[in-house]
Amino acid sequence: MKLWNHYHTPHTVDEALQLLSDYEGRARIVAGGTDLLVDARAEIAFEPHEALIDITHIPELLNIRKEGDHISIGAGVTHTTIVKSQAIADGATCLVESCGVVGGPQVRNVATLGGNVAHALPAGDGTTSLVALAAEVEVFHEGQRKWLPVCDVFLGPGRSLLEIGRDLLLGFRFKQTGRGEATAFKRIMRPQGVALPIMGCAVWVKLDPMSANYEAARISIAPIGPKPGRASEVEAELVGKAVNGDTIESVAAFAQTVLHPRTSKYRATEDYRSEMISVLLRRTLTLATERARTGTAVPEGVGV
Ligand SMILES: Cc1cc2nc3c(=O)[nH]c(=O)nc-3n(C[C@H](O)[C@H](O)[C@H](O)COP(=O)(O)OP(=O)(O)OC[C@H]3O[C@@H](n4cnc5c(N)ncnc54)[C@H](O)[C@@H]3O)c2cc1C
Repeated sequence: MKLWNHYHTPHTVDEALQLLSDYEGRARIVAGGTDLLVDARAEIAFEPHEALIDITHIPELLNIRKEGDHISIGAGVTHTTIVKSQAIADGATCLVESCGVVGGPQVRNVATLGGNVAHALPAGDGTTSLVALAAEVEVFHEGQRKWLPVCDVFLGPGRSLLEIGRDLLLGFRFKQTGRGEATAFKRIMRPQGVALPIMGCAVWVKLDPMSANYEAARISIAPIGPKPGRASEVEAELVGKAVNGDTIESVAAFAQTVLHPRTSKYRATEDYRSEMISVLLRRTLTLATERARTGTAVPEGVGV
């Protein structure tokens, strides 16, 4: 059986939207194809489509831009391009660390941040960092372009707000880290594992001007539930506390008591994941705190 009959490579967003409209729901967006084609071959959540619309030839979706204190990233930007971006390494270090561990080099060279989010798995590595960055997502949805908080795009595992064959994810934007702020991402993975992590963690912290106390925090640990989200109870526990090892230890231990991950058939049991919450948060929070205190951030663990 043929999985699609026509393959289009539009060069503008308008052309892509026109194609979606022309096919009246019978076409499907493709970017790097690293999720879509695996699903198609395994016949997971994929039905044959009249056409595939490839968005990786649309210049508007392939840019990383700095506008004031914001960074925007087109949906078609690959993980490799993000890893090589100095602007993102400086202003959103966690995202370089996330994208730098996705698959191997062949996957990262074609797979996109847009695809990572549109595929809507709660533990997508890029997604975990976008949540900690409080990123917004630009979508074409219900006939218009609009910006939404990244978490609003997720409806459940593999289910997003984007209607297949009608909607388009266009890009992301978030505020880059400023003075006293920093981010970090770490994950726990099976040895030689190449797909989703056992658990991932991204942290954004803001310290007060003396680096004495935590002024604000955003913590994203995944997968915890069916959708990605912030660990707001853990954030509240951290804010206002002194910047030291004891705080990090106690907040990491607290996180383990309030977050309740699920068992996944392929990756890890609930018990193991629960134990790993404190380990992972301690490591990630320590790194983000050190970066915020020193004002320097060199991405770690990034594949080449
Ligand atoms: C060997 C291997 C290892 C992997 N390892 C990891 C890993 O370590 N961590 C991780 O998070 N992921 C991993 N993945 C999953 C995958 O590579 C990523 O999720 C990737 O970011 C998907 O991007 P893509 O461009 O290939 O998406 P595609 O496969 O092109 O698309 C995925 C889905 O999103 C839709 N879509 C894509 N772009 C848009 C858009 N702009 N608008 C609307 N819908 C869109 C498609 O229709 C499809 O449903 C791995 C995959 C493979 C094959």
